[in-house]
This record gives sequence, C-alpha cells and structure tokens, in this order.
Amino acid sequence: MYDAIVIGAGPAGLQAALTLGRMHRSTLLLDSGEYRNGTVLHMHNMIGADGTPPAEFRATARTELADYDDVEVRETAASSITGGEDAFVVALADGSVVEGRRVVLATGVADDLPIVSGLQELWGTLAFSCPFCDGHEHAGKDIAIVGAAPRAEHLIGLLGRIVANITVVPVEEAFTDEDIRTLEAKGARVSRTPVASVEKVEGGVLVRTDDDERVVAGVFIAAGAMRQRSPFAAQLGLGMLESGCIEIDEFGRTSHPGVFAAGDLAHRATLPGPMASVLLAAAAGQLAAVGIIQSLLAAEH
Ligand SMILES: Cc1cc2nc3c(=O)[nH]c(=O)nc-3n(C[C@H](O)[C@H](O)[C@H](O)COP(=O)(O)OP(=O)(O)OC[C@H]3O[C@@H](n4cnc5c(N)ncnc54)[C@H](O)[C@@H]3O)c2cc1C
Repeated sequence: MYDAIVIGAGPAGLQAALTLGRMHRSTLLLDSGEYRNGTVLHMHNMIGADGTPPAEFRATARTELADYDDVEVRETAASSITGGEDAFVVALADGSVVEGRRVVLATGVADDLPIVSGLQELWGTLAFSCPFCDGHEHAGKDIAIVGAAPRAEHLIGLLGRIVANITVVPVEEAFTDEDIRTLEAKGARVSRTPVASVEKVEGGVLVRTDDDERVVAGVFIAAGAMRQRSPFAAQLGLGMLESGCIEIDEFGRTSHPGVFAAGDLAHRATLPGPMASVLLAAAAGQLAAVGIIQSLLAAEH
C-alpha cells in the first residue's frame, strides 16, 4: 500500500513525487510516456530553465527522483481506479494492480488540432498555440495565425507587439466581412480563403490557401480543442469545470475524497482555464503533494 500513487510524470507529477519523496511518503509514479510538449524542442518562460529541451528537463527530474528511496517509478499506463480513500486500487496496463491511500491525477491534456494538411507534423516545432511559450522566438518575423476570429483577435493582441507582420488565415470556412474588418483593424492581413495546407520549407512554414501562398517563420493555431488525456475524471465522476478541466481547490483536492489533481488537466473555479505552463504545472504538483501530506497527517493523528 503506497501512501500516494501519482499518475503522470510531466512537470506536475514529477514535482508531486519529489515533494512526497522528500517527506518520506511512499510514492509510486506512473508514466505512459505521452507528454503534452512531447514534440517541443525548447521550452520557454521557465526561470532557470528557459530554452531547455523538455526531454532534458524530464530526464534531470528523473535523476533527481532516483535519490529518494520512497519514490518508485514505473513506465506503464494506469487503466482504471477503483476503491476509495485509504484504499485506492489502480489497475495498470502491464496487468498488475497497485494500491494507494491517495491518488494524484497528473495525466495532462491532449490537443485536438484543427484538421489542416501538414499541421500535425509541425506541431511543437513550427506550429504553436501559446504566445507566452513561443512568441518571443518570432520577434521581428512574419507569422500566420490559423483559426477562428475571436481567438485570432486575442492572439493578435498578444503577439502584435512582438512579431513583424501577422496574416490571419481561416480554417474550413472564410471569415465574415465583419470578422475581416475587426481583424484588419487590429493591424493584421486577413486571408479571404481558408487554409489548404501548411508545410515546412526553407525559412519556416509555407501556408497555402486556394488563392495565396506565403512563407512565414511560424504558425500560431487559434482553433481546435483540448481534452483530458486519461479517462479517470469521467471514471471517478469528478466535478468538472466549463473548460473541460477537473475542479480543484487550493491544495489540488477534487470532489472525490483522496483524489488530488495537478497540472493542465485541473484548475480552480476562479480561473478561466488551466494556466498551461511547465512552471505552474510543477507548482500545482507541489500543492497537491502538500494537500496529500496534510490529509495523511489528519488521518494518522
Ligand atoms: C506545442 C506546445 C508548446 C509548449 N511550450 C511550452 C513552453 O515553452 N513553456 C511552458 O511552460 N509550457 C509549454 N507548454 C505547456 C506545457 O507543455 C504544459 O503546461 C505541461 O506539460 C503540463 O504538464 P502536466 O504535467 O500537466 O502534463 P504533461 O506534461 O502532458 O504530462 C502528462 C503525464 O501523464 C502521463 N499519462 C497520461 N495518461 C496516463 C495514464 N493513463 N497512465 C499513466 N500516465 C499517464 C503522460 O505519459 C505524462 O507523463 C507547451 C505546450 C505545447 C502543446
């Protein structure tokens, strides 16, 4: 019986395991190897690790965790969670079953990109969604924003002061005249026809529409959606937010006693959505670990 089973070894799960290990709480960390930034070459906006390859960050974290006798890591997916506080049973994809007193869900989210020929191949290297993560690297360069008008407008606001020129290209359907007026008033050039394909070329990305093609340094996506990567929120019937994320409190507690959540898959109701970043996912992992330690202490005394 582990004190805690942490499902997911991105920044949220890695930090949760570190904090639990440092407090000598027996912890099992599970990793199915599917990271949100799995295709990203350099992560940014993380003090002390700005520009570090995410894979290097995770490898360093694993080396650090190896120093803690109370932390065990298994490279396998969890497939189901049953039981309840003090006696959770987690079935693993390798056929084994493990038990824990508390569970941390740190399984992240997956991005469902709009269907655009060539886009999936560029995701994380030449196509991005977060200006905080990847905007500065395009300073003084031309970019395209591919997606829907309201999100494109928001991205123009954030990126307009960083990049040189912005071309906004719709997906599937042309923009309305009103959308075009609004986006042009923000200083962007607006394509009249939807994106046909994107492709890596010398100097960046070739963005093609039916009546135009241009090379830009990078593409920002203003369409698509994200979803829970694992089935556990649904399996456990957790309280959810409009964003599709799990509702948590200050210490990562979910609506299910003994189940904590941290990282991109969860946030507090006071936030409009998950603050998707490596630093904040790790911070949430630490808070969830502290929440678990508090709850174990309360149960033990
Ligand atoms: C293109 C792109 C670029 C980004 N760039 C940056 C950046 O520059 N800076 C920055 O701060 N943030 C960046 N982000 C955001 C950042 O990647 C996320 O905020 C962060 O990874 C969230 O961490 P997490 O631990 O919640 O989830 P993840 O990192 O997604 O980790 C989820 C973990 O859960 C595991 N898992 C899932 N299901 C199961 C299961 N059933 N059993 C066991 N394990 C499971 C996965 O294998 C993985 O270990 C970027 C995101 C994208 C998409």
